[in-house]
Amino acid sequence: MSQAAAGSHHDHDHGPATGLISVEEARERILSAIQPLAPIELPLQEASGCVVATGTVAEGHLPEFSSSAMDGYAARSHDVAGASEDEPVTLRVVGLARIGRRPDATVGGGEAVRIDTGAPVPAGADCVVPIEYTEAAGDRVRVRQPFAEGRNVRPAGEDVRAGDVLVPAGRRLTGAELGLLALSGHPQVAAHPRPRVIVLSTGDELVEPWQQAEFGQVRDANAFTIFGGLRDAGAVPYLAGIVRDDPEALKETILSHLVQADAYISSGGVSVGERDVVKRAFFRRGEVDFFRVAMQPGMPQAFGMIEGKPYFGLPGNPVSVFVSFEVFVRPAIMKLMGRKDLLRPEISARLATEISGPKDRLQFARVLVKRGRDGWVAESTGGSSSNLVSTVAKANGLAMIPAGVETAPAGSEVRVLVFRSMES
Ligand code: AMP
Ligand code: MG
Repeated sequence: MSQAAAGSHHDHDHGPATGLISVEEARERILSAIQPLAPIELPLQEASGCVVATGTVAEGHLPEFSSSAMDGYAARSHDVAGASEDEPVTLRVVGLARIGRRPDATVGGGEAVRIDTGAPVPAGADCVVPIEYTEAAGDRVRVRQPFAEGRNVRPAGEDVRAGDVLVPAGRRLTGAELGLLALSGHPQVAAHPRPRVIVLSTGDELVEPWQQAEFGQVRDANAFTIFGGLRDAGAVPYLAGIVRDDPEALKETILSHLVQADAYISSGGVSVGERDVVKRAFFRRGEVDFFRVAMQPGMPQAFGMIEGKPYFGLPGNPVSVFVSFEVFVRPAIMKLMGRKDLLRPEISARLATEISGPKDRLQFARVLVKRGRDGWVAESTGGSSSNLVSTVAKANGLAMIPAGVETAPAGSEVRVLVFRSMES
């Protein structure tokens, strides 16, 4: 994206539609510059939720040993083949097989070993006679019924064979995979780590939410919107605070976090006004591109690499931040994590109320999607201005009103990007 595309006048969200690129093109430029973070060996607890980089192969069978499914006697099926109520077979009890231990005897012809549920089946035995089909008498046991080979035995390797793939590359680890890896003796796994993302807010007018806001000052909302979005995406956010509208201070703050950062996000200061600090800090450096996207809100955007790490310069208005995060940053975070499902799900819904917006740009309108009698119904949660923060908090979706449509009438079908469960 060329710097010429950025325009030369103060172009906030309602500026003229010259030199715009589409949302898809902007996202493609961002995503093509980003590769998944290099995999590292992570302990299972840390790997939870991460994507496996290298598949894990089973070194041995699972279960590792055959075990008894019942309390009873491990025996040879051949020995008890002729047993009946009238003519029970008598076996000699030669030992014990306890859970968690190696059996203290093997089973030969005419022999049995007393066994507990879950205990390893001793060598020589091929079935387990449940205790209720036996009568003990001193060191002998009488069996009153035949049992076939394999009866009441959980065989080794029934679940997984040595050499099988336990968890393939590309799989996102949930509890089920972690349990399997633990059982098979893999306390760590090569996975893409969670990106550590430095979040900063630019603006002379900003104060922290716990500070007293004097008249005209604005509490920093964006850092928290971004924090929540990052957590939800699986990243590790780090709030680096407010930076004044001073290009040197911005550069210094960013570079001071270099060692612990996998990516940076700032909000504010990306247009071309007096105070547009991101532009003044990076415009001539060639590391960060400034471009205008045919969308509303969120038209001015900055993106580039700083010391090899992605930098997102989002516009300042809180709703623009939310939408830009959903449309550009979240997919990029997912890609850093090695995810394949980069985009939020979309549904088709019927508008409950008409929505108007700019004709030349794709509008992301905040809506509440509910289940209607025949499909999903989307209702606007308020005005389209990008400072109306409560309209986002009430919404669960962004209805996409395409460029070329100035007013989408009530009853028309729209695509909706769903960013929150529609049932909660
Ligand atoms: P800017 O893009 O820096 O000109 O900011 C556009 C508008 O968003 C201004 O009204 C700012 O006060 C407001 N704004 C910028 N950053 C934040 C923030 N972190 N939290 C809340 N509002 C902000
Ligand atoms: Mg500002």
